[in-house]
Amino acid sequence: MAGDCVFCKIVSQEIPTEFLLETEHVVAFQDINPEAPTHLLVIPKKHITSISALEDDDQGIVGEIMLAIRDLAEKEQLDQGYRVVVNTGSQAGQTVKHLHFHLLGGRSLKWPPG
Ligand code: AMP
Ligand code: ZN
Repeated sequence: MAGDCVFCKIVSQEIPTEFLLETEHVVAFQDINPEAPTHLLVIPKKHITSISALEDDDQGIVGEIMLAIRDLAEKEQLDQGYRVVVNTGSQAGQTVKHLHFHLLGGRSLKWPPG
C-alpha cells in the first residue's frame, strides 16, 4: 500500500467504495467521473504504478484483470462493444499512479482518441 494513493485507499476501504467485482488480486468499481454510460475501473489490489512498473511476477495479476474485464463486460451487457484503456504516463494523461484499466461502453466511442 502506498501511503497517499487514492486507489490503495479504495482497496483497503479507507475510502468506502462499492466493488462490482472482487477476485483474489483484483477489484472493480465505478469511475467517480464517468465518461460513458458504463465506466468502470479495474485495478490490482497491489500497488503497481503503471504498466511500465509491472514485474514479471505480476503476469498472473494482469491475466486476472483481463478475465475480470471479460466478466464485467458480460455483466454490464456490453454486447455491442466496449473499450479498455490504460493511460500510462503524463503524456497519456495518467492522473492516478496506481495501475487501472478503464472499461468504457454503452455508447458509440470515437477513434482515434484525442
Ligand atoms: P487516469 O486519468 O487514467 O489516471 O484515470 C483516473 C480515473 O480515476 C479518472 O477517470 C477519475 O475519474 C477516477 N477516479 C479518481 N478518484 C476516484 C475515486 N475516488 N473513485 C472512483 N474513481 C476515481
Ligand atoms: Zn496504490
